[in-house]
Amino acid sequence: MTASREGLPGDGHGRLRHCLALWLDDLLGLLFPSRCAGCGRAGPAWCASCATRVELLAGHLCQLCGQPGHGSADCRYAFPFPVRSYARYRGPIVRALLHLKYRPNRALAQVMGSWLATIVRREAWQPTLILPVPLAPIRQRHRGYNQAALIAESLASHLDLPCSEAALTRIRETRSQVGLDGTARQSNVADAFQAHAEILGGSRICVVDDLCTTGATLIACGQACLEAGALQVYGLTVGRAG
Ligand SMILES: [Zn+2]
Ligand SMILES: [Zn+2]
Repeated sequence: MTASREGLPGDGHGRLRHCLALWLDDLLGLLFPSRCAGCGRAGPAWCASCATRVELLAGHLCQLCGQPGHGSADCRYAFPFPVRSYARYRGPIVRALLHLKYRPNRALAQVMGSWLATIVRREAWQPTLILPVPLAPIRQRHRGYNQAALIAESLASHLDLPCSEAALTRIRETRSQVGLDGTARQSNVADAFQAHAEILGGSRICVVDDLCTTGATLIACGQACLEAGALQVYGLTVGRAG
């Protein structure tokens, strides 16, 4: 099964903007030579030099939060399921994730999906369905696409699994998480998501986002999936802040 575009969120305008954003990316790709999203040099979407400057989160990691330096018994993050990130949110990773927020660069999303697929295999996770963290509907309409969905679709294609944007939706607008501490972030996103039991019941879900800061958004999404009957949830992001 391949990644599906089934259930693109939003109304007809949202879908049109999504298609226009992807079309514009194709057009820009034809007009301008490809550049590295980490350093801006002409060449592939991600260059070998940026690859060497990334601080990978690999090796001995906490089984819960996926950070080094402590075990799950001493973990200060309240993750009810395992969460892993590809790299620390520093240097070229910051620039690459910012780039994906402003341009639906599918070549870059393909690279990021391959990073996350490597983590799923390394951890021997067995997801059956990939879900992106949904954007607030108003932001999705404004931007025309969800950068987490681009990464999730790429991960799904690398793992030959389905990807659904319809299974998890944001039912309440939330204020920006920037500037809020961990507790405030959790209450800001609590009950903001609705997971659809008819899709999620009995599934093992991998929830994908671009960045994990306190994990409040991933926790809220994962809990909604578990309440909707998911058997297992895993959280996966490209960057890890903090
Ligand atoms: Zn580079
Ligand atoms: Zn931990």
